[in-house]
Amino acid sequence: MPGFELFGEQEKKEIQDVLDSGVLMRYGFEGMRNGHWKAKELEAALMHSMQSKYAHVVSSGTAALTVAMASAGVGAGDEVILPTFTFVASFEAVLALGAIPILVDIDDSLTLDPKAVERAISTKTKVIMPVHMCGSMANLDQLQKICDKHGLLLLEDACQAIGGSYKGKPLGSYGDLGCFSFDYVKTITCGEGGALITNNERYYKNANHYSDHGHDHIGKDRGAEGHPFLGYNFRISELNAAIGLAQIRRLDEFLKIQKRNYSILRTALESIEGLRFRKVPEGGIENYSFLSFFLPDGKRAKAVQKALTEAGVDGCFYWYDNNWHYYRKWQHLNQMKSLGNLPQEVKNQLPDYSKTDFSKSDYWISRNISCLIKLSWTKAEVQERAAKMATVISEGITS
Ligand SMILES: *Cc1c(COP(=O)(O)O)cnc(C)c1O
Repeated sequence: MPGFELFGEQEKKEIQDVLDSGVLMRYGFEGMRNGHWKAKELEAALMHSMQSKYAHVVSSGTAALTVAMASAGVGAGDEVILPTFTFVASFEAVLALGAIPILVDIDDSLTLDPKAVERAISTKTKVIMPVHMCGSMANLDQLQKICDKHGLLLLEDACQAIGGSYKGKPLGSYGDLGCFSFDYVKTITCGEGGALITNNERYYKNANHYSDHGHDHIGKDRGAEGHPFLGYNFRISELNAAIGLAQIRRLDEFLKIQKRNYSILRTALESIEGLRFRKVPEGGIENYSFLSFFLPDGKRAKAVQKALTEAGVDGCFYWYDNNWHYYRKWQHLNQMKSLGNLPQEVKNQLPDYSKTDFSKSDYWISRNISCLIKLSWTKAEVQERAAKMATVISEGITS
């Protein structure tokens, strides 16, 4: 997945432009910047490749999620439905707004189970946030139907899935809002950075203002700009945006490599009896950043992941035991441990996740292993890896 594996001349040239002008800020300084607007160019490239009317680049994927929700008016006491399998950033963004993260089960797609979503809806629900973990998506048609029925927003956390698609639409562009991360380990990187996309002009304008202290960005003199509402600083720097600009131009090249590597691994494992691949909803195309599969039971999955690592197959994750990505290890969320007092709404409304029945999530995640697909592997390296994986997994299944 990581774009940092393939830094080259393009990235260096874009950064050099910024250093030559000396303008590291994305706004203002027209006279000095030699026509370089890297953040704006990155936004234009995103709008084009994500087939979206608007794109707004910010300082991280977490910032993008926070700004996206703020732009649509999500605030204190609003409930946001998200999966038990995600990255902590998804619920951090919700909590930053004083809103309530409502975790619900996943299914064999490793993303939101639409039936569990339906059951979790309350009068306070405002957003459904599918998280396209490891490059693939939930059944977005079903989630959209639920949103339509209850008047909810669909916000795609596509931080790990740039370049995938659903029914012909780029992931992130299907919902009301979509978010990407360009942190150091994502498919394309800015070092640190993120973006939101939307077709809604009001959300876009709100996001644009909110992420820069509420500045309305009307007129040339920053000092004289108005502030229609309070905001924050979620700006990206031109240096980071410059790297992202070089990287997004290479997205198709990266996806092609990922798909080739994924296909070699998958073909080698396809005939193993008892092995099952992650379900990709009809009409969905992964971005091939991970190959995810299920063993017949949790004990074997855990043992196989260990055996893969010992055999030199690195980058295969057993998420069930992982404290960044699965609810079981999120004691800090459950104990509502923050540095100051959390808003009263959060204290009152946050469910006790230590007592919630997530047996369906446990069923799938405990059986799952997800293997990272790297860009820098040669074809021969992937073939060698595929052969090792097939041996280790076959032995593990029959043991
Ligand atoms: C990486 C990631 C984020 C957060 O992005 P940052 O740029 O690291 O803040 C959010 N959600 C998911 C699913 C991620 O993988």
